[in-house]
Amino acid sequence: MFLPGRRTVAYTGMLAAVFVVALAASWTPLGTRIDNYVYDSIFQLYRAKPWQTESIVLAIDEHSLSEFGGRLGLRHALADALQRIAAASPKAVAVDAILADSNDAKSDDALESALRATPHVILACDLLPDESGWDDPLPRFRRWVAATGHVHLDLDKDGVGRAVPLEKASGHDRRWALALEAYRVSRNASTLETPRDLEVGGVLIPATKDDARLLRIRYVPPEGRIPSISLKQLHDNPTLAQRFAGKVVFAGVTAQTETKDRWLTPYSPIPLAGVEIHANLFETLAQRQFLTTEPALTVVAFGILLAAAAGMTFRFLSGWRAYGVALGIIAVAHSVPYAAFTRNIVFPFSPGVSTAWLSVIAAAAWQHLYVRRRMVKSEAERDRYQHAMHFVTHEMRTPLTAIQGSSELMSRYALTDEKRKQVAQLINSESKRLARMIEMFLNVERLSAGEMELKKDSFSVRDVMTGCMERVAPLAERKKISITMEPLGDAVLTGDRELLEYAFYNLLTNAIKYSPSKTAVTVSGGRDGENCQISVEDQGIGIEQKEVRKIFQKFYRTRKAEQSGEAGTGIGLSIVEQIVLQHGGKIEVTSAPGKGSCFTLKLPVGQAVESKPLSAN
Ligand code: ADP
Repeated sequence: MFLPGRRTVAYTGMLAAVFVVALAASWTPLGTRIDNYVYDSIFQLYRAKPWQTESIVLAIDEHSLSEFGGRLGLRHALADALQRIAAASPKAVAVDAILADSNDAKSDDALESALRATPHVILACDLLPDESGWDDPLPRFRRWVAATGHVHLDLDKDGVGRAVPLEKASGHDRRWALALEAYRVSRNASTLETPRDLEVGGVLIPATKDDARLLRIRYVPPEGRIPSISLKQLHDNPTLAQRFAGKVVFAGVTAQTETKDRWLTPYSPIPLAGVEIHANLFETLAQRQFLTTEPALTVVAFGILLAAAAGMTFRFLSGWRAYGVALGIIAVAHSVPYAAFTRNIVFPFSPGVSTAWLSVIAAAAWQHLYVRRRMVKSEAERDRYQHAMHFVTHEMRTPLTAIQGSSELMSRYALTDEKRKQVAQLINSESKRLARMIEMFLNVERLSAGEMELKKDSFSVRDVMTGCMERVAPLAERKKISITMEPLGDAVLTGDRELLEYAFYNLLTNAIKYSPSKTAVTVSGGRDGENCQISVEDQGIGIEQKEVRKIFQKFYRTRKAEQSGEAGTGIGLSIVEQIVLQHGGKIEVTSAPGKGSCFTLKLPVGQAVESKPLSAN
């Protein structure tokens, strides 16, 4: 069975976290703003082909208002215009004006008779501000019309009208949008509904119940604007009425001074009058140019795909190839919303793009750090190899040269018996030294690979330490260093006595080696709960803080130690550390340059030990 490595799991986890962050960021208000901005830009970039519009606006503009005496004269003028249009038989007439109050009797009468004479009229209604009911046209107007429709837009926070809820309800009193009603009336059909869509005259409108039947408006491109004739123009030139023949008319105020009902659209920073927006919604329906939003699940799946692609790119490729592919991934993330739009699908921009950018940056940084770490590690390994070579060439060479020279001496010259004996002894002792060196070198390798059998003796710490102190006494005497042992108690350790003895001995010799003469070395310790603690403290040259961790590396010697003139190989402490670790313990060092060092071993008391491989350092 394939089991991913720790590194792969961590890398995947990091990418997953990045993906979640990117997704969450795209759902913030800023993400929504970016999505809207991009939506508008695509709208402008991708111009749908202009089409033959089916609607026409009967505009109540500034000129008409001043001509007919402002708002007060409006009903009369509208009645007049309706009468003229009716003669041209439009398919439907939607009036975007709330006719809920009575004006003067004369103009109301005129409007009523115009409505009676005009077939297929739809009047506007408005939800009351507290949503407790509908602001409906007066019953005398309403009785002559085919339907009433609401005129609410769904404005985004940036004030741009991108969609209209086709359905609006106050309690159980539900109304369809003015444009939808105009469409239905013009098709002489009825509206059928399912949770997923509406059907009018065999046309499915993708507006789900869950989403208040929100429908995006496919605005008519600026170059193919919906034609507009004002009340005044129609009044001045009655033949213009012919332009309304067979059309769906949207009548309403367009005068900038008279209405607050003007909104921004994705196309233009110049606000469009509400009535024109309703006409655009009608065109969306009539042209069946429905823009549907991609389901969230697909967007999430796309994001996962991008993050995975970015991850794999930097996992399996490197250098310019990786960056090239990464650029490709980012480009795909940028272009998918546009490509989707050309297929009438709105694909949110920010989830994909933020995922692509963040995961590419994160994956690149991760792999960069990983490669760097590997480089640093391999450099350290090369260093250690060089040290090892140094050890072999310098340290081992001395006994080898002695052996070589002595054996040559013996074979070339006739030596006296005594001289012969001397030379043979030298060869013997040097070869033993060489063997010890090789043995030590191999031991540390075997120890760190867990290949060395550890014995399980039980012994008193005090006894072993006392033995070690006796062995180092001559060394200490030479430098006039006093060694004192504080009472160690009677802790008994279970483990490899010989190896632990080596460890204690090494700490003691180091303490003496790296201390000036006439100083003191103190051994202390005892049982501390489950552990036995042994400390060797000196008043020697000390170790720089940054070097403390390094002294356990094979062949590492501090600069101070090198300068001290004391011979050494830098291998002893790495063996000590392996021994302690194999016994389930640890080694700690505190040191201050020029003041001294204290090495402390902490070993579990009486615990059975087993040899296990440890990572070599
Ligand atoms: P060696 O003594 O052969 O160089 P070790 O592995 O025993 O190698 O020690 C590694 C290095 O740690 C030493 O070279 C020395 O720089 C430093 N060191 C160890 N013990 C002491 C100490 N008691 N005081 C100062 N430096 C020490």
